[in-house]
Amino acid sequence: MSKRPATNHKPLSLIRPHLGELHAYVPGEQPQIKGLIKLNTNENPYPPSPKVLAAVQASVDGRLRLYPNPTAQALREQLATLHGCRPENILVGNGSDEVLALATRAFVEPKRGASSLKRATVQYFTPSYSLYPVLADIHGALKNVVALNPDFTLPHVAELKRSRAWDFQAALTFVTTPNAPSGRGYATAELETLCRAQKGVVILDEAYVDFAEENALALALKYPHVLVARTFSKAYSLCFQRVGYFVGHADLIAALDKIRDSYNVNGLGQIAAVATLDDLKYYRANFQKIIATREKLSRELTALGFRVLPSQTNFILARPPAFPAEAWLQKLRDQKILVRWFSTPTVREFLRITIGTPAEATALVTAARKICASRPPAE
Ligand SMILES: *Cc1c(COP(=O)(O)O)cnc(C)c1O
Repeated sequence: MSKRPATNHKPLSLIRPHLGELHAYVPGEQPQIKGLIKLNTNENPYPPSPKVLAAVQASVDGRLRLYPNPTAQALREQLATLHGCRPENILVGNGSDEVLALATRAFVEPKRGASSLKRATVQYFTPSYSLYPVLADIHGALKNVVALNPDFTLPHVAELKRSRAWDFQAALTFVTTPNAPSGRGYATAELETLCRAQKGVVILDEAYVDFAEENALALALKYPHVLVARTFSKAYSLCFQRVGYFVGHADLIAALDKIRDSYNVNGLGQIAAVATLDDLKYYRANFQKIIATREKLSRELTALGFRVLPSQTNFILARPPAFPAEAWLQKLRDQKILVRWFSTPTVREFLRITIGTPAEATALVTAARKICASRPPAE
């Protein structure tokens, strides 16, 4: 360590200057604490289907030395059948995070060198998925950030036009639907009105849509500038394998396909995703269990004095009673329950709680009751 470097390169001077100020995405914690009830990162509490596990296990042999299919062909064909489109309408990525990043690179000009600033703008509502600003910043794009209504519903297009803050020309607009971290679902009709008003690409990020009443997939097949992003992570218990995809117009998909890494989707992930699509019945039963647990947990926390927002996802956003949300985070952690708290002003009074198994939900309610009872009596 004390040796003088062999050359006088200054490593920091070698890095693109705008990365100096970049705030990286902050993932939820993955602590290794025995017995911890982990309700902080919206993972599915149920394991993948036994058929998926068997398919992955059967593939772990000498073939790992081979490259996987470069276009995830079998998976794209199955997804096309599922969604009533062609494989040319599907792009698979290393998680949907990768396809969101590819879209930023394909559709947005970095602000320096952009012929028009419109082409350099990434736009999204707040609060929504906290990866969007990171993708814009990495790319050197402009950000246009507009608040959702205070109850996390979507502002009407007429209001967006009146307020003038929203950019109908933005090169890329991200909409998390259903919304995270609020859990709010949006009607396809209102999403369609918004899409029709946008001149640039619109991405409907449907990471949680399997827990919702409606999905907007039809818009991706109807409008050439609309892409729907889906993931196997949350609803299909496959976070570990990193598989997500876009559905959209073949021309947009072809552009994204040009710039992706040739082997962006790992082989075991492709196998797991194909096996998942072969056993959708298993997953649909899990969605129903999670939705039932979500509704019961919402009622029980409401009875304890929480303000629970309506959710169409596998998590709830809830404002706890008696103590500030940040204090609740620690108090629950002391009882080995991990939830998520965001310091963002619009949600800092809330906890985001992933829906676990019925037993985990019961443990949470028991812990919450104890915490409420520990409140010093009012004077
Ligand atoms: C989890 C999540 C993703 C990313 O999913 P991966 O496929 O695991 O990369 C994308 N969008 C939203 C809104 C999410 O919550």
